[in-house]
Amino acid sequence: MVSIKQLYDLQELDWELSTSENSLVEVRAKLADDSALVSTKKRLEQLESQLAERLSTRSQRESTIQQLGEKQKAIEGRLYGGAVTNPRELSAIEEERVFIQGQVGEEEDNLLELMVEIEDLQTAHDQTREQLVQLETKRSAEYPELLKAEEKLATELDELHQARADMTPQIPPVALSVYETLLKSRGGQAVAKVERSMCQGCRITLPTVEVQRAKAAQEIIQCNSCHRILYVA
Ligand SMILES: [Zn+2]
Repeated sequence: MVSIKQLYDLQELDWELSTSENSLVEVRAKLADDSALVSTKKRLEQLESQLAERLSTRSQRESTIQQLGEKQKAIEGRLYGGAVTNPRELSAIEEERVFIQGQVGEEEDNLLELMVEIEDLQTAHDQTREQLVQLETKRSAEYPELLKAEEKLATELDELHQARADMTPQIPPVALSVYETLLKSRGGQAVAKVERSMCQGCRITLPTVEVQRAKAAQEIIQCNSCHRILYVA
């Protein structure tokens, strides 16, 4: 004789098994996932190389401005030093002075723009570095916890598999085979409880005669809608 209660107990065990298996998969995925750390490290490296490039451009521009300044000073020396008196020559020097002054102004504007850019990059760099430190701290705190959880779940699963191996030989092979087939085809639920004449697997109301037969629990009665094995507690 088939005990429907046994099948129901097996169903509960299989649910527990599937929950633990899913949790284990989740924990293992978390253990393997260091994508946040990797992407933040990569971003920090990018910012570092951008900063280095801009800082080198800044020194180039600063030295250009310094050279232009020296040139300007030399021209002013010639212009106001009194050594040159020829008005045509003086006017040519003045033209040169104005030209250099314009160049200095242009270079100074460029430098200012660059310094704003460097400041923004520096801010982004510092924030990213801070983020990385936080991520590393979080990861190193989380990792041992995840390992512990993994071990606990693995032990639980071993026990559940053992319990299943103890339980199944007590169920008649034909009933077990019906159960296993339904378990696969019905989304992991082979047995459905009947409550208020309703199959809890598909929520359909069952004919009274079906409920009575299920209640007698002398044989496997399947829901005529979802085909799950009916169990009346
Ligand atoms: Zn049903």
